Amino acid sequence: MNPHEHELAYPWAEAPAPGTIVTLRPGVHWLRMRLPFALDHINLWLLDDEIEVDGSVRRGWTVIDCGITSDETKAAWEKLFDTAFEGRPLLRVIATHFHPDHLGLAHWLARGGERERWRAPLWMSATEYAFGRFLSAGTNETAGEDAAAHFRRHGLSDPESLAKVRARGGGYYPKLVPSVPRSFHRIADGDEIAIGRAGSRRVFRVIVGHGHAPEHVSLYCAEDKLLVSGDMVLPRISTNVSVFDLEPEANPLPRYLRSLDHYLMLPADTLVLPSHGKPFVGLHRRVAQQHAHHQARLAEVYDACATPKTAADIVPVLFNRELDLHQTTFALGESLAHLHALWYEGRLVRTSDGGVWRFAQGLS
Ligand SMILES: [Zn+2]
Repeated sequence: MNPHEHELAYPWAEAPAPGTIVTLRPGVHWLRMRLPFALDHINLWLLDDEIEVDGSVRRGWTVIDCGITSDETKAAWEKLFDTAFEGRPLLRVIATHFHPDHLGLAHWLARGGERERWRAPLWMSATEYAFGRFLSAGTNETAGEDAAAHFRRHGLSDPESLAKVRARGGGYYPKLVPSVPRSFHRIADGDEIAIGRAGSRRVFRVIVGHGHAPEHVSLYCAEDKLLVSGDMVLPRISTNVSVFDLEPEANPLPRYLRSLDHYLMLPADTLVLPSHGKPFVGLHRRVAQQHAHHQARLAEVYDACATPKTAADIVPVLFNRELDLHQTTFALGESLAHLHALWYEGRLVRTSDGGVWRFAQGLS
C-alpha cells in the first residue's frame, strides 16, 4: 500500500456499486467489476460514442477494458446493458493489455453478451493481442513444468507449492480468458482515437508503456486532461513488474521506470483514471513516489545480497506479510525483477549451485 497516498487527491469519494455507473465527465462513465483475488476489483470506462458505418451514423458506446470471464461479471454486464446502455450497442471494445482482468470478457462483449445483441471490434496493440491469443489457446503443454522449473531455479523448494504451480500449468489464463476475438484493430504508440458524439468528440492519444505488460496502452485526452492509465499508474498499490518463465532473462524494471517518465510530459493536474483504486489527481507525485519506492526496494535488495540470495530469499525482504500461492508467484517475479535490474547494472553477480541461482554483491 502507498504510505504517501495523502499526497494524491480523490475527486470522487465513492466507487460505483456493481452494476451501476458514475459519470466523471460528460460522456465518460466509471464502472467496476469484481475480481476473485486479493485485488478484488477492476475499473472499466464506458464512453458515449458515435461511429459512421457504411455511410450511416451509429450511436452507442466504447468500453475500455472488460473484466474476467465469470458468471458474476457477465450478470453485472447484462444488468448494465438493460439499464445504463439506453438500448444502444457497444461500437468497440478497447483493451489496454492482455492481462485476464482487462481482456477476459472481450470475446463476449464483442458479440453482444448472452443474447448476441451486436458485433463490436476489439482494439488493442499488436503485442498485447498476440500474447492474449497465444495464452488463451492454452497450447503450451509444458507450461506447468516450465513454470515450476523457473520457480525452482529461483529458490522455491516447497514441494507442495511446486506441485500446485505444475498443476496450474497453462490452464490458468484460458480459465479467465477462454477465447479472444479472431481478428482485431491495431492501435500503436502515438495513434489518435476520436471517441464521442459529433460536436463533443474527444481525441485520445495512445501512450505505450513497458515493464508491466509488453505493449500496454494508456489513452490521453489533452483537451480534457484525462488519462486512462490502465495498470501503468495506480494510486494505492505499485504496478506489478515481474520476471516470468516465458522471458526468464527479462529486465523489466528499468523499462517500467523509463515508461513512467513519459507521463511527466502530461500536465500535473491531469485526472488519472486507473484500473485499480479511484480516479485521482497527482500524476507527477505518483510517478515520483514510484521512482522512490523502487529505488528504496533496490537498495534493500542490494543490501540483502551481502551474502548470496535466491529470488525466493528476497520475497520476505520486499513483502513482510503472508502470501497465498497466487501472490507468491507474483512476489517472486517481482523480487527477480529487482535482482535482474541490479544484475544487469553489474552491481550483483549471479552464480548457479545445483541448478539454483543466487545473486550476490560484486567484488568491485
Ligand atoms: Zn495488468
